[in-house]
Amino acid sequence: MPGDFESMWSDLAPVGRSAATGGYFRQPWLPAELELRAWFREAAAARALEVEEDPFGNLVAWWDPPQPAAGGAGSVLTGSHLDSVLDGGAYDGPLGVVSAFAALDVMRERGVVPVRRLGVSAFVEEEGSRFGRACLGSRLAVGATSWADARELTDRDGVRLGDVVEGGTSALLRGVETYVELHVEQGRGLVDRDAAVGAGSAIWPHGRWRYDLAGRADHAGTTRMEDRADPMLTYAMTVLAANKQARLAGQRATFGRVEVRPNGTNAVPSRVTAWLDARAESSEALALLTAAVERQSRERAERDGTRVDVTRESLSGEVSFDAALTGRVARDLPVLPTQAGHDAGILQAAGIASAMLFVRNPTGVSHAPDEHAGTDDCLAGVAALADALIVLVA
Ligand SMILES: [Zn+2]
Repeated sequence: MPGDFESMWSDLAPVGRSAATGGYFRQPWLPAELELRAWFREAAAARALEVEEDPFGNLVAWWDPPQPAAGGAGSVLTGSHLDSVLDGGAYDGPLGVVSAFAALDVMRERGVVPVRRLGVSAFVEEEGSRFGRACLGSRLAVGATSWADARELTDRDGVRLGDVVEGGTSALLRGVETYVELHVEQGRGLVDRDAAVGAGSAIWPHGRWRYDLAGRADHAGTTRMEDRADPMLTYAMTVLAANKQARLAGQRATFGRVEVRPNGTNAVPSRVTAWLDARAESSEALALLTAAVERQSRERAERDGTRVDVTRESLSGEVSFDAALTGRVARDLPVLPTQAGHDAGILQAAGIASAMLFVRNPTGVSHAPDEHAGTDDCLAGVAALADALIVLVA
């Protein structure tokens, strides 16, 4: 017995956890995440699964059937990601990977002999916490992002992605026809439905926009208020506009990251760079929302004597998960949409039938240290995943 769900979970619990906040820092290819990758290889080895890693660092541990199909045709993948947002929770990502290994154990205990290849996957840089692109690993694996573009992405220290991984072409998903991702719920939909586990119907369209606001650096004391070109004012107004527009439309808009230059207490800043994360129930609604924020930002910039440049860094359209697969995975579970992006959305958009299972999160808090799922609910998730996979690999 290679270790049950709870022992695997307690092995991972200390990795990358901040003593100060209780949150996790598991950015890709930095020490905590490298430790998780080593753990993944050990978990695979303990189950005699062969690990395949593509040139971007995406991992799959394969359970081969006695008579594999040529080229792995009809393969089934299940898993999630191991990286976290900065100061994130324990569950977002690793719950799906640990549950995948646990579900595979359940299947073996029940004597299941797969007809199809089953892979436990961990896609890299799902959160975009280091190189700024969400779902970067899965986008590269399906070819939705080209390596020529991705290799030039840099982290906050100026390290290029191309200097961290080899890059090239991924063959990891050849033959994969089905993907099931189990994930902690990032809202209170299951709490409201009084259910431990549910399935996903669709992912809202979402994207990231970089706002470069340029003004003029100056002395905080000697420069009269009316003589300033202060991009911080433009930024402040832009944040308020984003919040108001999203509220009015019932959508989501967040400025969660900002960089200020020169970042001195006694200086009017010369430049503010900030990132807008926006999500909406339809692509049209998202376009309206982001256009309204940009328009108000530009109006304010005129009054402030500053300049606004808006660059779209990523955009994902609405993704509806495969209805037939979702029906097989969900059975009598509640089915609900999500405002969060996932690798399952990237794979579905690339033509791989995908479905998601969600595990109840009592507070609904996610991307923060308070993210949580109870052990009983996690085990219910493992059981639901195992039941679904038994059908899918037959
Ligand atoms: Zn996630």
